[in-house]
Amino acid sequence: MNALEVRNVCYDYPDGTRALRGISFTLAEGERLGLIGPNGAGKSTLLWHLNGLLPDPLTQASSVTVFDLPMLPSHLPLIRARVGLLFQNPDDQLFCPTVADDVAFGPQQLGLSSTEIDARVKTSLSQVALPGFEPRHPHRLSHGEKHRVALAGLLAADARLLLLDEPSAGLDPRGRRELQSLLRSLPQAQIIATHDLELVVALCQRVLLLNQGQVVACGPTRDLLNDEPLMLANGLERPHCLRHPHPHD
Ligand code: ADP
Repeated sequence: MNALEVRNVCYDYPDGTRALRGISFTLAEGERLGLIGPNGAGKSTLLWHLNGLLPDPLTQASSVTVFDLPMLPSHLPLIRARVGLLFQNPDDQLFCPTVADDVAFGPQQLGLSSTEIDARVKTSLSQVALPGFEPRHPHRLSHGEKHRVALAGLLAADARLLLLDEPSAGLDPRGRRELQSLLRSLPQAQIIATHDLELVVALCQRVLLLNQGQVVACGPTRDLLNDEPLMLANGLERPHCLRHPHPHD
């Protein structure tokens, strides 16, 4: 079973902006895919489609299938539990008075018992290296900690596909390193939309390059990111780590 099958997805915003023009790709279970492209390429719009945040993208010619479930209105509650979207700005995602309440929000929607919810909150906070943060106030945490609390909420809800929108933006070098090892340690399929191409090289087996709402290229990370003419033509640069590889890489 694939984690995701996307076929010919198109989307125009209500003001007429054409954001996605026939996007197709698949994602295997457990795979990490880098979603790259210049600003305005359609990366965030595509992520929002994949857990049904935008109006139904299905027409006769297009489809999104998540773990074998077609994106139909009747499947949306289940799809939204399986697919966790980590917002670019964690302040848009965290809204409860305590970390425990925020992380518990997803599992509560699944109707689990309070004992099970407490256990999930504890486990997922440990997974993101924030054990004991339950009573803390989310808005008094650092940017990196807020991101990890938001991620813990997705893990507590048992998301099997994680969509990460610019997860390393705003992190200091240590926070970025911690994020990288955290994402590597998670077994879930992941789509990482980012300008941080070093992160993509470190984590992603494959890359999908978007420009002007279209898939320009999709393939193995190093092949694609090493293609200097392709990168430059799409407003990107070959990442430093590929131009000057470390001898032990
Ligand atoms: P990226 O994440 O790659 O920067 P986006 O998905 O944010 O790209 O944007 C894709 C296109 O859709 C851009 O042309 C952008 O200006 C447009 N867009 C994004 N959000 C909206 C919106 N709410 N209304 C109208 N156009 C939008």
